[in-house]
Amino acid sequence: MIKKVRTHVNQNEPLLFERSSPGKRAYQLPPLDVPAVDPVKALGAENVRADIDGFPEVSEVEVIRHFTRLSTWNYAIDLGVYPLGSCTMKYNPRVNEYVARIEGLAQAHPYQPEQLAQGAMRIQATLEQMLAEITGMGAVTLQPAAGAHGELTGILLIRALLESRGDPRQKVLIPDSAHGTNPATAAIAGYRVESLASNAAGMIDLAQLERQLDDSVAALMVTNPNTLGVFETEIARTASLLHSKGAMLYMDGANMNALVGMVRPGDCGVDVMHLNLHKTFSTPHGGGGPGSGPVAVISEIEPFLPIPRIARSNGTYSYDYDRPQSIGRVRAFYGNFGVLVRALAYILAHGGEGLRNATLDAVLNANYVRKHLEGCYDLPYQAPSMHECVLSDARQVSRGVRTGDIAKRLIDYGFHPYTVSFPLIVHGALMIEPTETEDKRELDALIDALRSIADEAQNDPELVRSAPHDTRTTRVDEVTAARKPVVRWKP
Ligand SMILES: *Cc1c(COP(=O)(O)O)cnc(C)c1O
Repeated sequence: MIKKVRTHVNQNEPLLFERSSPGKRAYQLPPLDVPAVDPVKALGAENVRADIDGFPEVSEVEVIRHFTRLSTWNYAIDLGVYPLGSCTMKYNPRVNEYVARIEGLAQAHPYQPEQLAQGAMRIQATLEQMLAEITGMGAVTLQPAAGAHGELTGILLIRALLESRGDPRQKVLIPDSAHGTNPATAAIAGYRVESLASNAAGMIDLAQLERQLDDSVAALMVTNPNTLGVFETEIARTASLLHSKGAMLYMDGANMNALVGMVRPGDCGVDVMHLNLHKTFSTPHGGGGPGSGPVAVISEIEPFLPIPRIARSNGTYSYDYDRPQSIGRVRAFYGNFGVLVRALAYILAHGGEGLRNATLDAVLNANYVRKHLEGCYDLPYQAPSMHECVLSDARQVSRGVRTGDIAKRLIDYGFHPYTVSFPLIVHGALMIEPTETEDKRELDALIDALRSIADEAQNDPELVRSAPHDTRTTRVDEVTAARKPVVRWKP
């Protein structure tokens, strides 16, 4: 029997701890040319550690190779299209990184006195102003740290406004196509969540809304374009209907990549919305942060915005804490300042025309993908796509192949999977958001892969069901892997 020689560089990289051998060092220092100082005498015994239990002893080259090898296991937007629907995984232009790394910005300290932070505050004030212009809203806060945090801030603002009217109300209505963070937000803000069934086109059903809209409803939370990638054409009438009953319209703006420069939510009657700067305005994300979820509001809600607000008088910026109606702080510091810098750089580099073109390209790309896949995959809702398209595995299910299998097989073709099984109103969903930063060649490669997988599902379904085949491991128990991660390498 021929013994298989183990592949050299592969995905079975051990932990650094497991490479350790006693006495190895990653540095060499020249001999001391001054008298040695006893660290215990110099620092005190309580500040000196004799040994770190199990500390890996490895050479410099081992450290470098270890981390470089690990870095090659990641799929990243700098490698290829990242078609996760609802996530807007767009390429982040390098100029944004350059600007965010300018020393005075990258090294800014949260306790820097106001007079030494004027430039940083001007960046924030300018960004607030531009986001207000893009959304058509009266005022913006940059405090929330992510989309979900923005939602919570937004619903607390609605509660504050309604309380000031003497009628905080009890319920928030949420369409059944919504992102999971919407109902979670409403519940955490102390509201009862009531689901609103979508109509046959996957959109807000005005008649149904009218039936559920009583004077206990504080707000409707709607994503537009919705999670099917379809524009809610009745958004303005929805807003009027809500307003006529004293309720507010919250828009989840995570999908603004389909609207920037084309439609302003403020012009459609939206009262409060959040933006995901790390989606629409380019900061790369997916590794757990940092993000940024600014909230834009109509002028009537401005007095309730979190403190401090950035104020300007005689050309000088200051933080204004004297705002008695404010809901308070939603965060202590702007630790994500770099995300704000990138967003402003992105907006200024594009300009109005450029932002509008990016939107048009994002929509064009999604429609291109949908058109080329609808022959192979079921298309549950026929409306033209905005920035993303949602297909389903309905044709593959008869061969025992589901959306999760197709996504795993896509990994063998060298692509990051699309979003699997979301939105929930589409059974077996394949949700694809190419974004504007992919060119035709990249989109064609993705389309070819998905068409080829559709053929395989028909002719060799087991191949798809057991994918991926070219990766370190194949199917793992994802629930257990998430709840009880075991990261130890077993040779
Ligand atoms: C991404 C997303 C959110 C949540 O944003 P986070 O920044 O991940 O908290 C909310 N709603 C929709 C529709 C989204 O796509």
